[in-house]
Amino acid sequence: MSRFYLTTAIDYVNSRPHLGTAYEKITADVIARYKRLSGVRTHFVMGNDEHSQNVYRRAREQGLEPLAYCDQMEREFRDVWARLNVSFDDFIRTTEDRHRAGVGAMVQRIADRGDLYEAYYEGPYCVSCEAFKPEKDLVDGLCPVHGTKPDWIKEKNHFFRLSKYRDALVEHFRVHPGFLQPDVRRNEILRLLEGGLDDISISRAGQHWGVPLPFDPSSVVYVWFDALINYASAVGFGRDDAAFADWWPADLHVIGKDITRFHCVIWPAMLMSAGIPLPRQIFGHGFVTFKGQKMSKSLGTVLDPLDAAARFGPDPLRLYLVKEIPYGQDGDFSWERFEERYNVDLANNLGNLVNRLAAMTDRYRKGRLPASPGAPGRLATVAEDVVRRYRAAMEVFALHEAAFAAFGLVDAANEYIAETEPWSLAKQGQHERLTQVLSDVVEAVRIAAVLLLPVMPQSCAEILRRMGDDRNTADLRLDRDAAWSGSAERVITKGDPLWPRLEAPAAATTEPAPQQEKQTMNDRPADQPPTPGPARPDAGAPAASPVQTPPAAQPPAAADADGKIPIDDFVKIDLRVARILEAEKVKGSRKLIKMRVDVGTETRTLVAGIAEAYEPETLVGRSVVIVANLKPAKLMGIESNGMVLAASPEGGLPALLGFDNPPPPGSRVK
Ligand SMILES: [Zn+2]
Repeated sequence: MSRFYLTTAIDYVNSRPHLGTAYEKITADVIARYKRLSGVRTHFVMGNDEHSQNVYRRAREQGLEPLAYCDQMEREFRDVWARLNVSFDDFIRTTEDRHRAGVGAMVQRIADRGDLYEAYYEGPYCVSCEAFKPEKDLVDGLCPVHGTKPDWIKEKNHFFRLSKYRDALVEHFRVHPGFLQPDVRRNEILRLLEGGLDDISISRAGQHWGVPLPFDPSSVVYVWFDALINYASAVGFGRDDAAFADWWPADLHVIGKDITRFHCVIWPAMLMSAGIPLPRQIFGHGFVTFKGQKMSKSLGTVLDPLDAAARFGPDPLRLYLVKEIPYGQDGDFSWERFEERYNVDLANNLGNLVNRLAAMTDRYRKGRLPASPGAPGRLATVAEDVVRRYRAAMEVFALHEAAFAAFGLVDAANEYIAETEPWSLAKQGQHERLTQVLSDVVEAVRIAAVLLLPVMPQSCAEILRRMGDDRNTADLRLDRDAAWSGSAERVITKGDPLWPRLEAPAAATTEPAPQQEKQTMNDRPADQPPTPGPARPDAGAPAASPVQTPPAAQPPAAADADGKIPIDDFVKIDLRVARILEAEKVKGSRKLIKMRVDVGTETRTLVAGIAEAYEPETLVGRSVVIVANLKPAKLMGIESNGMVLAASPEGGLPALLGFDNPPPPGSRVK
């Protein structure tokens, strides 16, 4: 039986996991679950990186012993991973004895090889990066990542002869072109190697929070050097040779693309020096941005992944992250897009299919389908092709393609129902044909659920149960259970909708929606052609209209779940009194009036859709309220700089807001 040892990066514990961290764990979990489903003996390890000076400081700030702080964070991390259904087999902490044993053994081996020497290090050190920063990497003397001034340190350190391994690393990349995936990351590393490598400091003097060097207990091992060794110590290095021989080398390290240098240069060089085989493959995934900004603990742009999991269960979030973001590339998360995909993939597609199928089977066959009476229809061929594409994609970690392939089978099943019209077959009394059609669709749904198990373990287990398969999903095997089989009698169970459709946005809290025009007066008239959005030359103009904007995108900016916005959002809208100086109908338009208004500091041209309610000449001299800070929009070729407010009663004509005693133009309305 083959085996697969899989790791993720271990996490700093100076803050709770965020979406970026969760993305890595979820995608690695999908790989681990796929391997188990394929019958591969799998060992999936994650953990926490605790020997950071930041952790030490954070603990002290909270008045805690560092270890007590780390214990507390471990509970928080484990809690998040449990809620996201991440199925690691082992969880390592770098403060554990087993890890300290591994670090001691590794450092000793490297020293015995003659690859360590003592020298003074003098230069900048960024505490947030936990990294020595060559001065050439600083921007205006500041850390380019954190924008903070690095500490200047001068201390006697132990150095690792990294430079010695440059040629061996280049050779390794040549012989093992798949060592680092995706390819674009490999090219980055090869360029780095071409430039030559400097030796690196691997110790910090006079510190206590860390693993002491075996031959110099007054220094601790530099946190990055320490952390990398977890991959070996987690499977027994330095402590349990049999376990280590069983699992090493690792088959896959899943890491973020920003730390490939540590994993593809320093870590392999350490292993070469220690005489240990290198991991087989490293996958550098991209970043998930949230509103265009990288998730970062330091920058504070954090989405708690539990927000989505608490609202919808872990599976919709898992599916979104896996299916919407090509694995290896950067991707984006927005609540708007999340809700859209939830409705499309889950509520309307898979969830609806499961429900209709159970309802039809219940109505026409009392929930019981006999072993398939005849030859399966074309769905069997589709399923075979889908399984093949799914496996091919999963084997190269194209997780998005695999999920996409599985949904292809769901689509095909829905189309098959539309085509065969089981309700017509029932009416026409075509009993055998009806049974065959229902059996085929059940079988397609069952196979789709098996394929999607690694991505949506909880929901797919439930789908399988409803389709009459209540085996423990851990016992399922791709070879056997994703193959078409019409031979079993199936009892189909009805249930509540798995994913009720989201009619109103459930969560616009964390992300301010793009600035949106309240459609009142500037509504595009019926006789104007639709305005394309972002591609317009005057991009940024409020091109959104109710027709173009899906329902989920229409809440006011940054509305809470209850539709309320904070005052801060309201004050962004600059409402001003304006006096109308001139007004005329826009030629060729039934609704539009062009006017010049005085806003106190200047005069402006506005276009408003009020021609059906007001004659232009009656408007001159009136005072109205306008949104003064709206981006310009072109209507019938006229640039409108602002929006006039009016009430728009249902089915009635617009009515302008007015004043008893008009205040001077430019007065603020609030
Ligand atoms: Zn930094």
